[in-house]
This record gives sequence, structure tokens and C-alpha cells, in this order.
Amino acid sequence: MEEMENKRRKKYDKIECVPVGMANGVAAGFPFTDKEKESMVEEATEAFGKFLDALKCDWRNDPNSMETPRRVAKAYVYDLWKGRYDNFTEITSFPSDGYDGLIIERNISLTSMCSHHHQAIRGVVHIGYVAGENGRVIGLSKLNRIVEHFGRRGAIQEQLTQAIHQAVDKVCEDNKGVIVSVVATHNCVSCRGVKHQGAAMVTTKASGVFMENDNQARKEFFDSLKINNGHVSI
Ligand SMILES: [Zn+2]
Repeated sequence: MEEMENKRRKKYDKIECVPVGMANGVAAGFPFTDKEKESMVEEATEAFGKFLDALKCDWRNDPNSMETPRRVAKAYVYDLWKGRYDNFTEITSFPSDGYDGLIIERNISLTSMCSHHHQAIRGVVHIGYVAGENGRVIGLSKLNRIVEHFGRRGAIQEQLTQAIHQAVDKVCEDNKGVIVSVVATHNCVSCRGVKHQGAAMVTTKASGVFMENDNQARKEFFDSLKINNGHVSI
């Protein structure tokens, strides 16, 4: 049992790319048990109540706000920052049976939060890869799981793109190339500061064949996103 856990942790070490404790990394003490999560909710509830006190909100006597500290704490622990506390999903690979072309999953839904302002980041992620000589492919929904795992944290889009790329690259061992493109809008741009609606940020991280041969594979990837009116933008 312990050996299995060590093996799993070892795989995990390869996948995480920022130090433990950062908003976009796993939390110290990860992975958390249900009991540990409950006690974190308690502590965060109390702290958020104080945060509202500082903002002169009489939340204790406001029927709409009296449960808000707990709601916010639970939202962070069980949804918004879930990827910091929960185990990375087990990812199995399968033989590609001779398929050596591009594999693409487009329009993977992304919900994240910017670690600068704690405002929503929403968009889509497109992932492409070419399996290696040994021809291992991974289950399609696992790409969604990877996006969820790294998206459900504090994030900056550039690093998030890098983290998703690194995870696919490590899980899909001996691949010939991986490309990840993230198209997202940031609430912190639309609701505060400059307050511009509709501006989307596009980030792309590519490796292997996606960087070679005059970017042919890269071109095929982006062309594929347009087929059947695939949503390149959001
Ligand atoms: Zn922000």
C-alpha cells in the first residue's frame, strides 16, 4: 500500500511544476482527507467573517450574508481551489494500434481563478499531441481531468498553459510533441481596473513536432480547430 502511494507520489512529483504552497501549486499537507478539509473550511469561514468585518459588512445580521463566510470557504475548498487539495487522477494509457497522426481535443471547458485578484478566468483549452514510437495514447476525458486539476487553483494563464502542457507531456510518455492553447477571458480585466469586456487572452505552449518542419504540425493543429466551425474563440 505504502509502495503504491510512493509510486503515485513519484508520478505526481513529475507533474507539479511550482513549489508546494503557492496559489497555483498543491497545498502543504496535500492530499487532504475529508476531515482535514472540514477543519480548513472552519478556519477559512472564521477568517472570511473577519474579512467582511473589515469591509464594514454587518453580515451576522444580514439574511443574505450570514452564511456567506461558510459558503465562500466551502467554494474554495471543494470547487475553486479543489486542485490544490485533491489527488491527481490516475491516468492510464493505451496502445495506439499504429495510429501516428495528431490527436486533438478542442474546446475543453476551463474555469479558473486569477491568483492576482481572485476573479474568474473562463474559456477553453485545446490540446493536441502525437503519440510516440511505442504508440501510447491516453483516455480523452483524462485531458479534461488535467485541465480541471490545474485550473481549479489560483492561476495565471501563462503558467496554467505551461502546467497543462507539462502534465500531458509527462503522462503521455515518449510522445513526439504536445501543444496546448488556452483562450480565456479574465474577470479582473472586465470587472475592475480597465473594465473592458470581451478581451480574450490566447496562450500557446508547444514542444516536439509542433516546433519542427516549418511548424507544419502546429498549422494542422490550428487548422483542425476551425473544422466544423469548432470554436477557436470563446
Ligand atoms: Zn487578475
